[in-house]
Amino acid sequence: MQGHPGAAGPRRLLKRIRDLMAAGGAGQERLDQIVKIIAADMVAEVCSIYLMRGGNELELFATQGLNREAVHKTRLAIGEGLIGDIAAHARPLALADAQSHPNFAYRPETGEEVYHSLMGVPILRGGRTLGVVAVQNRTFRDYTEEEVETLQTIAMVLAELVAGAAFGPEAELARVGGALGPARLEGVRLSDGIALGHAVLHQPRISIRQIVADNLEAERRRLDEAVSTMHVAIDDLVARSGFVEGEQREILESYRMFAEDHGWLGRIKEAIDTGLTAEAAVQKVQEDTRARMSQIADPYLRERLADLEDLGNRLLQHLVGQGLRNEDLPEDAIVFARSMGPAELLDYDRRKLRAIVLEEGSPTSHVAIIAHALDLPMLGRVRDVLVQVDPGDPVVVDAELGQVMLRPSDEVRDSVSAAVDARASRMAAYAVLRKQPAVTRDGVRIAISMNAGLLMEMDQLENSGADGVGLYRTEIPFMIRAEFPDVAEQTDLYRRILDRAGERHVVFRTLDIGGDKKLPYLEDARDENPAMGYRAIRLSLDRPVMLREQLRAMIRAAAGRRLDVMFPMIADISEFEQARALLDLEIQRERSRGRPLPSTLRVGTMLEVPALLWQLPALCARADFISVGSNDLLQFLFASDRGNPHLADRYDALSPAALSCLGAIAEQCNNLGKDLTVCGDLASRPLEAMALVGLGFRGLSMPASAIGPIKDMIRRVKIESLGRYLHDLVRVPDHSVREKLRIYAQERGIFD
Ligand code: PEP
Ligand code: MG
Repeated sequence: MQGHPGAAGPRRLLKRIRDLMAAGGAGQERLDQIVKIIAADMVAEVCSIYLMRGGNELELFATQGLNREAVHKTRLAIGEGLIGDIAAHARPLALADAQSHPNFAYRPETGEEVYHSLMGVPILRGGRTLGVVAVQNRTFRDYTEEEVETLQTIAMVLAELVAGAAFGPEAELARVGGALGPARLEGVRLSDGIALGHAVLHQPRISIRQIVADNLEAERRRLDEAVSTMHVAIDDLVARSGFVEGEQREILESYRMFAEDHGWLGRIKEAIDTGLTAEAAVQKVQEDTRARMSQIADPYLRERLADLEDLGNRLLQHLVGQGLRNEDLPEDAIVFARSMGPAELLDYDRRKLRAIVLEEGSPTSHVAIIAHALDLPMLGRVRDVLVQVDPGDPVVVDAELGQVMLRPSDEVRDSVSAAVDARASRMAAYAVLRKQPAVTRDGVRIAISMNAGLLMEMDQLENSGADGVGLYRTEIPFMIRAEFPDVAEQTDLYRRILDRAGERHVVFRTLDIGGDKKLPYLEDARDENPAMGYRAIRLSLDRPVMLREQLRAMIRAAAGRRLDVMFPMIADISEFEQARALLDLEIQRERSRGRPLPSTLRVGTMLEVPALLWQLPALCARADFISVGSNDLLQFLFASDRGNPHLADRYDALSPAALSCLGAIAEQCNNLGKDLTVCGDLASRPLEAMALVGLGFRGLSMPASAIGPIKDMIRRVKIESLGRYLHDLVRVPDHSVREKLRIYAQERGIFD
């Protein structure tokens, strides 16, 4: 097999560098020689190496061609000048006319004014930027893509050299490591909860002993072998019984597809052809993927790249034999990663995991969905956390507040530990409550149901104390697949959900996609205002085949059993009627084919759009039940994006306006005798849920983990007096009545 056309260049250069490294010598000396070799080999007048200092500055460490006096003097902030730009974005730059680039910054001590062209690449290791290596030429030289690749390969070798030497950021970090003080970093809550534990690095910076290959053929063989053992391992994971099933299996299947992605493997093979060992080649492609990731805004593509990164890590583990060993994990592991694939999360022993902290991640990412289902706190988008955390550091993760505290003071640890303990004992107490009925002190029964979206969550139903599933978000399995599931696949999934539910009911909500919930295989409408855009029932009614197929699958899955169907984002009676008509069509279709039908059919709607408030009598005449989606309803009521952290505390659900709105819904539906539930987040928060029952709601649906605290609240409250209190409270002109309600609850022993 031939190497790719430009492979001889890097191979020769790599060999020279390897010989140099093998000869030993002090770090600085080697850097001085390396810049000389690179400059000569790449026919450049200048080659310089800049390394990070103190986490935010780049220092010129070695140069061939620039003034020698500038070495250890010239410093650039991250983002400053072209070198700073390369470091900031962790991506290469190749410019024939560097000086006309807007970021060009001239440093007189270097004497670089005579050099017109510049090509620089970041020196990356384990997701960190350690520095930049750059070459310059006097002429307006157009560097080729292959030359950029060659320099990137050299940068990898440099990364190992720098990491192992007594200089550079890693050494600096190691020196000050023990003395690092507490740090508090902010992120985005991906899965709720609070946790205390010790830091574990997800990728324990796999150390590659050999970067430059001795034997090309041997490296190609090693790669092939590692790829096939990795496939077997992934197959194993897919096949592992019990835990991995349903949607998780879907995730892994689509993940396996990536493992066979020829583009990705092809790039690794090309890197081997340039003279790298198999593991160094994987690492190089990993670094490229990361650099690409930082430039891609499209969340779906970013997720796919994250999956590739996950795969790359696996492949590396197969090549160098360093993998996750659950037995080495501390009992209270808080895992830190740049990003993490769903399969990687499932590899960890859940009993030892306390929380996950990611530099990347989005609430709709696969890994966040799994974390949610596992009830595992997860924080995402914590910038540069990997640079600041060291393995073994004590850590506090407070996902609710969106923060992680590294090496917190003893006082902070004690207070969080007390909070965690208190939560654990509360949970134990709630567990006892689960089987108790949700009846208020004055004898009013509240129907408690559970929200779900993953098959694995159905396992919690039996012990959750819920009457059934009040909201099954069917879009979640669609979101984590690579292609649209057909009727048979959907039927199978819905049937399994109903089987798990047994005697209990499940309200299937039809696809609520669009907005922030994108399907990779559905063309994107590119809404200016996605939450109010082309989403949910609007999209489904325009694609009746999609909706009909989903309804058909539900009908088939529920043959001989009760079926509850609910439509999302209904804004107008006619939308409900159209959706219902499609359901009726499907029922007729099945009947005419002699197929068994559900024994009972209940058809309801979400109430998420304020316009429905003025159509309630007509709606109640048509729908069997109504479920208030308070997340969307309140975002539309206050015109306040539910996902925008800047607006999170701006308006309060416990404000007179929101409570009046909710109260009006409860009053009208109760008068019309309509079955009414709240399935948005409000129902899962005790104080808010207390207000809801006080306003007249008799059904609440929430994640399984919230059921204990909510039942506890219900069993302590007296609805009649609370109703009277609220009646007056919603008339006050306050921004929020939260405090008043809290005092009300505390004085009556509703909360401890
Ligand atoms: C809601 O809007 O409150 C709701 C339950 O739907 P989702 O959170 O899935 O939009
Ligand atoms: Mg909603």
